[in-house]
Amino acid sequence: MKLTGECFCGKVKYEINGVVRDARSCHCSRCRKAFSSQASAYALVNPSEFKWLSGIEHLSTYIGEHGYGFQFCSLCGSTLCGIHQNEVHGVTLGCLNDDPEIEIGRHIFVGSKASWEVIPDGVLQYDEYPPE
Ligand SMILES: [Zn+2]
Ligand SMILES: [Zn+2]
Repeated sequence: MKLTGECFCGKVKYEINGVVRDARSCHCSRCRKAFSSQASAYALVNPSEFKWLSGIEHLSTYIGEHGYGFQFCSLCGSTLCGIHQNEVHGVTLGCLNDDPEIEIGRHIFVGSKASWEVIPDGVLQYDEYPPE
């Protein structure tokens, strides 16, 4: 499968020659800020299948705890990918241009979701981490 993604202004583009997997949404207060949204919407990629196509000079990198961080467009602010130890770890689902043919499989940290968010019935949800 070939998937492409880009930021809001379109200057930063990437492609994935492979699949994205394990799509998840985390509703914790940290992810709300990292994604500027009610929750994260994120899926894992294989680093070897991910390639930047353009705009890499506009990418800014934020490294947080444990070597995990994000890369975002410094022009428009879209967060494009998560990184771990300087490798792409996953992508934000919102910046994909194509249908990744997966759905968000689980909603986690629903116990600390924002008071204003309404989660529909019938989605798989966990108060914190899912049991392994
Ligand atoms: Zn941009
Ligand atoms: Zn979270």
